[in-house]
Amino acid sequence: MHELSIVENIVSTTLQFTNEHKIEKVSFLTVQVGKLTGVEPPYLQMYYGDLTKGSALEGSELKIEEIEPEAFCRCCGEVFNPEEEERICPGCGMADYEILHGKELTVKELGFE
Ligand SMILES: [Zn+2]
Repeated sequence: MHELSIVENIVSTTLQFTNEHKIEKVSFLTVQVGKLTGVEPPYLQMYYGDLTKGSALEGSELKIEEIEPEAFCRCCGEVFNPEEEERICPGCGMADYEILHGKELTVKELGFE
C-alpha cells in the first residue's frame, strides 16, 4: 500500500524530531499533500491512527492540506493546472513544462503542548 509506507515515513521522521527535542506529546501534525501524488487523504488518516499508537503522536490530529497542481510552461511561460488542461499547455499546446506544485508530500507543521 502506497499510503501505508508514506505514513510510516512521516511518523518515523516526526518521532525522530520529537525524540531529539524531548517533545512528549504532539497535539497536531500538518502535512501537505499535492494532488499529483495520487495519495488519498482518508487512507492517510486511517493509517496514522494505527501507526501512532503508543508514541508521542498518539491521539494527535493529522491535518492534511491538499495542494492544487500547478505547472510552468517552458515554451511560453504560462502557468496552468496540468491536471485540468490534459497535460499540455493551454497557451501554446506544448507539453514541455515543469511541475511547480502538486507533488508535495511534506510535514509542514508540528503542534505540541
Ligand atoms: Zn506554453
